[in-house]
Amino acid sequence: MKSEKSEAAFARAEKVIPGGVNSPVRAFGSVGGTPRFIERGEGAYLFDVDGNKYLDYVCSWGPLIAGHAHPEVVDAVAQAAQGGTSFGAATEQEIRLAEELVDRIPSVEKARLVNSGTEACMTAVRLARAFTGRPLVVKFDGCYHGHADHFQVRAGSGLATASIPSGAGIPEAVTESTVSLPFNDKAALASFFDKRGGEVACIIVEPVPANMGVILPRGDFLQQLRTFCDDNDALLVFDEVITGFRVARGGVQELAGVMPDLTCMGKVVGGGLPLGAVGGRAEIMDRLAPLGDVYQAGTLSGNPLAVAAGLKTLEILDRDDAYRKLDSLGLYLAKGLAQTMGGKGILGTVSRIGSLLTVFFMQESKQVIDFETAARSDKKTFTMFFQGMLERGIYLPPSPFEAWFVSLAHTEEDLDQTLEAFARVF
Ligand code: PLP
Repeated sequence: MKSEKSEAAFARAEKVIPGGVNSPVRAFGSVGGTPRFIERGEGAYLFDVDGNKYLDYVCSWGPLIAGHAHPEVVDAVAQAAQGGTSFGAATEQEIRLAEELVDRIPSVEKARLVNSGTEACMTAVRLARAFTGRPLVVKFDGCYHGHADHFQVRAGSGLATASIPSGAGIPEAVTESTVSLPFNDKAALASFFDKRGGEVACIIVEPVPANMGVILPRGDFLQQLRTFCDDNDALLVFDEVITGFRVARGGVQELAGVMPDLTCMGKVVGGGLPLGAVGGRAEIMDRLAPLGDVYQAGTLSGNPLAVAAGLKTLEILDRDDAYRKLDSLGLYLAKGLAQTMGGKGILGTVSRIGSLLTVFFMQESKQVIDFETAARSDKKTFTMFFQGMLERGIYLPPSPFEAWFVSLAHTEEDLDQTLEAFARVF
């Protein structure tokens, strides 16, 4: 497969952009080789500057649940652009999107639109601290909640791939008020809450983590989080930036029947344009300015193009049994991958929820339940696998700690092609 043009573009990029990329997860640092420079996307496929075609399982890291350049999404954005790209004033379309969020996400009574998942999580924590009058944020090792200072403590995929335990440039005074505990470990939580429960403003969690690879909560872990929060007057924040509108219409909270106080949204909700949202109980949300004393603002918040893309994407997800289709595509792929691994004696496991999945290659038979077990996965095998798949036209996240994203544009034939490539790599 040719890559001369991507190599030339990367060399040019490295001169003017740190590391040649505008987000570290795009680099091929941990798998080697040159990141592909993309010319365009269509449906489930990406086309790079060298003319190579790839079946895409990154899908912009989640937003493109309807596939690349979905004609209806493109039309909606083009039409919105005709009427003006930003006003810095309120629009009726923003109300429509907020109404959709309230309708879909069970625990959301009011929502504020922001520009990214990072902003949504920052705002959720600020609200939780203001509402409880307490400083401490409890998160889980390997969960990622954006790049704001107080989340850079054992923060999963991007940092894990780059072997950065906690980001530099962040004062200890900030990270001291974040505590990171092992996911799926009720005993660790109980012992922490025993000692310091009265200081906790919130637990923030990806209810199904996807930033250490996909990891499923065990038993009633999510319900336990709710109980710890209730018993200690702390808030529960679900970061559904990846899982929201993807694993079900109402996210993990709908599937698990556990209601958080606040929910962070992003990715799918913007349909491929920059948009996030934070939502939750009205009495907490109403602490936001201009009603309340928690300041949050954004020049481009509720941007008409992003709102148009989000509304159209949510509309597409309401048709043709979209969630059942996404789930059956995910299941088909996960089963096929697991069967091939079993048949070839490859140690590891496929972890999945709906259209999100991760293949963990392991050196020993071990369940992957948290960041520590995920970190034990076999990076050498992953690198060989990633390069082998890329060479065969399958574009996967360039890290063993990421989820693969299946979209409505993927077909069973695409998945079969993926499984054939997988079988040939090993
Ligand atoms: N929360 C989760 C669970 C994420 O996966 C991400 C990004 O991948 C974020 C928050 C941050 O979102 P953004 O990259 O839009 O700032």
